[in-house]
Amino acid sequence: NKIIEVRSLSKSFDNKKALKEISLDISHPGITALLGPSGSGKSTLLRHLSGLVFSDRREGTEVRILGELVQSRGKAAQQVRRCRARAGYIFQQFNLVNRLSVLTNVLIGALSSTAKWRTLTGCFTQEQQQQAMAALDRVGMADYAHQRVSTLSGGQQQRVAIARSLMQKARIIFADEPIASLDPESARNVMELLKDINEREGIPIVVTLHQVDYALKYCQQLVALREGEVFYQGAAADIGEQA
Ligand code: ADP
Ligand code: ADP
Repeated sequence: NKIIEVRSLSKSFDNKKALKEISLDISHPGITALLGPSGSGKSTLLRHLSGLVFSDRREGTEVRILGELVQSRGKAAQQVRRCRARAGYIFQQFNLVNRLSVLTNVLIGALSSTAKWRTLTGCFTQEQQQQAMAALDRVGMADYAHQRVSTLSGGQQQRVAIARSLMQKARIIFADEPIASLDPESARNVMELLKDINEREGIPIVVTLHQVDYALKYCQQLVALREGEVFYQGAAADIGEQA
């Protein structure tokens, strides 16, 4: 059972090729790190895997996540939408709504991508509120449920963002530089939490990182990019032995 299948994925911005016919297979249900220097295409690849954006429509282009088509040349609108609803996305800058409470930010994960924002005000069910509290408890943030997000540290905000993915019942989590804005201790805590969620909930995680040491410590699979191409893919353990 493949987690990720990528065939001939390309993306150009104006005349610049950000992804050059990438092909990639990931079967390992653990944590996969996308590594590479700034500008090598990590974020662009992650956004295409998650279905947040669309690739160049090339002959032979195909991306499947957990078997669902997220990029192709054909019309796959229905499948694309379904997968987007079940892929959690974690951002470097957390992407929480600062003036809302922690709990409401997690409840946002229960909204489908088509829900209107005006439905936000006070109409979540009792059950959804309980699920959101359980998700906050899972990431160690239950005590902060009724605080505004703006009062939290970066590490705490990232935990809330992870709770929002759990609320969304994500079947896979994509995390784009989730620790780049954090101090080393918070960074370790967030990586430990992702590792724990991966192991206990069995949710595969793909994470872009620029620190190789974190990748070796917390990830099982490494994919290294250089100028829009995959130049290395392998088990982290293989690299660890050489280092
Ligand atoms: P990384 O995440 O490895 O730093 P990115 O995926 O952000 O790399 O960027 C890869 C290349 O694509 C870079 O040259 C970047 O300037 C370019 N790029 C990314 N997003 C855009 C965009 N929205 N518009 C124009 N160029 C972009
Ligand atoms: P929109 O910008 O409103 O999404 P598009 O014409 O770009 O309009 O796309 C219409 C639909 O076709 C999208 O909602 C999407 O589901 C699907 N789609 C567009 N481009 C791609 C692509 N490269 N791969 C797969 N599906 C696509």
